[in-house]
Amino acid sequence: MQGYLYDPHTHTAETSRCGHLPAAEVVDRYVKKGFSGLVVTDHLHPEYLSRIDTDHNWDHVMDHYLSGYHASKKRGDEVGFDVLLGAEFRFPENDNDYLVYGIDEQWLRNNPYACCMSAQEFFDKFHDQVLIIHAHPFREGSAPVQETAIHGAEIINNNPRHPNHNDLALALCQRYPEFFRTAGSDTHRDGDEARAGVLLPERIHDSYAYKRMVETRQALPWCQEFQDILAADAAMRKEGK
Ligand SMILES: [Zn+2]
Ligand SMILES: [Zn+2]
Repeated sequence: MQGYLYDPHTHTAETSRCGHLPAAEVVDRYVKKGFSGLVVTDHLHPEYLSRIDTDHNWDHVMDHYLSGYHASKKRGDEVGFDVLLGAEFRFPENDNDYLVYGIDEQWLRNNPYACCMSAQEFFDKFHDQVLIIHAHPFREGSAPVQETAIHGAEIINNNPRHPNHNDLALALCQRYPEFFRTAGSDTHRDGDEARAGVLLPERIHDSYAYKRMVETRQALPWCQEFQDILAADAAMRKEGK
């Protein structure tokens, strides 16, 4: 295997109620599995706000939101492992999830309540600033994909507890070959970790660098399963897509 493995879709117990592994523990597990880094993509959606936003102070919301990332980054710095900041947005209209990259803490603080608009409004406002990847677009319970609101999709989401229908995500990207394609574990609890990711040609140190890697099609989906999907992705790349 050539390159450096990163998982662009992970959660922390500090921030995400559905996360059961503390951030430092997640980092340690990825180090053991031979990964070079991960992106913390904790959930940011109206339901989260209703739990956290008790004094209607966005900076307080962000202090809580970033606590998982900070704990992850601290552990990553201690062990020489790259921890990058991302976010998983969900908007009031339905339960579809959108991974957002190319952000920093200030961007999150400067754009309060961005998860309270629609997915299309979010794309229209931010599409030239951030990278928007549809997480598990065909997971059971998902609403129809809004192709005009995304830059790409996870063609492999290898979370073991959800029927993700990755084959349909691949087919979506075959219909829209301009879409960027990624893979991730969607790590929430024991046993989720390091089941998918992307291979990068070099190590990266922030969310902007990850966005660039995806946009220049240098982030190659990686997974030990779903070899058929990986082969189809490789074939598309060969055609220059
Ligand atoms: Zn979750
Ligand atoms: Zn997730």
